[in-house]
Amino acid sequence: MNAGVEQLEFQAEARQLLDLMVHSVYSNKDSFLRELISNASDALDKLRLEAFRNKDLKVDTSDLHIEIDVDKGARTLTIRDNGIGMTRDEVIGLIGTLAKSGTAELRQQLREAKNAAASEELIGQFGIGFYSSFMVADKVELLTHKAGESEATKWESSGEGTYTIEAVDDAPQGTSVTLHLKPEDAEDELHDYTSDWKIKSLVKQYSDFIAWPIRMEVERRTPPAEEGGEEVVTIETETINSMKALWARPKDEVSEEEYKEFYKHIAHAWDDPLEVIAMKAEGTFEYQALLFIPSHAPFDMFNRDAKVGVQLYVKRVFIMGDCDQLMPEYLRFVKGVVDAQDLSLNVSREILQQDRQINAIRRRLTKKVLSTIKELQSERAEDYRTFWTQFGRVVKEGLLSDFDNQDTLLQISSFASTHSEEDATTLAEYVERMKDGQEQIFYATGETRQQLLKSPHLEAFRAKGYEVLLLTDPVDEVWVGSVTEFDGKPLQSVAKGEVDLDSGEEKSEAEREEQEKEFADLLTWLKETLSEHVKEVRLSTRLTESPACLITDAFGMTPALARIYQASGQAVPVGKRILELNPSHPLVTGLRQAHQERADDPTVAETAELLYGTALLAEGGALEDPARFAELLADRLARTV
Ligand code: ADP
Ligand code: MG
Repeated sequence: MNAGVEQLEFQAEARQLLDLMVHSVYSNKDSFLRELISNASDALDKLRLEAFRNKDLKVDTSDLHIEIDVDKGARTLTIRDNGIGMTRDEVIGLIGTLAKSGTAELRQQLREAKNAAASEELIGQFGIGFYSSFMVADKVELLTHKAGESEATKWESSGEGTYTIEAVDDAPQGTSVTLHLKPEDAEDELHDYTSDWKIKSLVKQYSDFIAWPIRMEVERRTPPAEEGGEEVVTIETETINSMKALWARPKDEVSEEEYKEFYKHIAHAWDDPLEVIAMKAEGTFEYQALLFIPSHAPFDMFNRDAKVGVQLYVKRVFIMGDCDQLMPEYLRFVKGVVDAQDLSLNVSREILQQDRQINAIRRRLTKKVLSTIKELQSERAEDYRTFWTQFGRVVKEGLLSDFDNQDTLLQISSFASTHSEEDATTLAEYVERMKDGQEQIFYATGETRQQLLKSPHLEAFRAKGYEVLLLTDPVDEVWVGSVTEFDGKPLQSVAKGEVDLDSGEEKSEAEREEQEKEFADLLTWLKETLSEHVKEVRLSTRLTESPACLITDAFGMTPALARIYQASGQAVPVGKRILELNPSHPLVTGLRQAHQERADDPTVAETAELLYGTALLAEGGALEDPARFAELLADRLARTV
């Protein structure tokens, strides 16, 4: 190795991913070209913007373009741009390391991706950019010269765990990536990347809309002028893409394929979009928008610095990616482009924040996305289900933050319920099924469907045939606090406040009063005995099988919600709850009798404690002092074995 050439190792996740690429059987190898062109195009966007903002930057931006070179003899393919380029550190950071790494999920999936199908899916899901060149090349060289720097960098790797890096003196501004193509496979004419024709057709198919010229030298054969004369072969440089901005073209003139490829370019995605939304606003504030709803949630959707997916252009010029002013956070999975006519090229994020026009655009885009989801829901049930499975958890965040659209958000949401094990229900469907006399929409929140179904809170609802929504996403615990009703029907938690589950077999008023009297002493005594844990003890109408359950005040904070606040670093007072007893359960009637007969016996107080602990365990809660509970229980069991 030369002096000055350094050998470095890829970061661990990058190495594993590369390994997948090198041995890839990915069905769509062609996509490597789209990825490299996409990177070149991004680099040109960045340089134009940088040159505009930094007048001291000495670069020539008069002919920004991408060039593709094919060398049939050497079996190499070079993709060159005169864009922003990378410094040495950037090459190490951006190419030697995975930007998306560090997440447990990626690591786990890499570990699990043992077979071809799994790796294929992984490649599709993570959208592997630059590394995709190793699907077709056994060696890749990258030469890059960052705008404004004196030194350039050469990088080389065969994708096997290490790469070399070297400083070089002279290299043109920008980046060139040279692929040493894998040996020719005679059977596989379809994947001959040394064929001009193949490259041209790939560019047409995948990258036609790229806003920069993609040039290639092509042979032009002119037939002999006269019989017996020679065919004339000339070499010409041709621009092989049309460069038409897709969002500026009428929707009916753009094919579905073109939209798909554009989506993959701007979203850095490998899946297909579930839906395309094209919009055009004319008048005082003109803009065009082309938005995509993906079909797969990105794996970092809940990561706080996850990027939002809308790019801002001003008069066809790329201004910024991840323009969070254009889309509310709960729609952060929407990808696309907004091209505004009347903004300055100099706009910054700070200016955008204050801009009335931008806020108006955001409001319109939001409404449009929501109405599109609504259409999916009513017209393409299968796609809607896909959408909701992937993004429902994020969309529900909107119930908390976007009060203007709360009604629409409630309409497009669906929830698991006791009605069906497989299918989620919309609120409208729930309301349709409500029983005569039922005035509220009942719901339970918790961690899993299983746990909720077994919870004592649900017993009476189930016994009486009321449907209950089963809400198990963390965000559910929060939004139920800010949504009071749907379609005039209040939302009611099965674990909160008083519920009146009157039905035919209920006790009469007189019988009830009688029962209250019978239990009055026990309730007073229990309230005192358990005062450390509960603030009230009362008889329940929601229990049919369990002896007791814990209830939160109508406006109180549930323990689960308190946990969510605590996890986010907010201290919240956890109020005491109410213990409700099932007056027909033998444990409760037995306790009443024991209390009447031997009020001072300490084992009676212990039974009360056990009763409380059991109620807590049954709803999946955590005991405050598990050791003490275990001791009491063991003691009791010892006497009965
Ligand atoms: P992504 O494009 O999704 O970020 P890639 O693997 O395609 O992922 O590229 C990684 C990073 O390397 C890019 O974000 C960019 O910063 C840098 N990069 C790749 N190709 C080029 C290029 N031609 N010019 C400048 N930077 C590049
Ligand atoms: Mg890329």
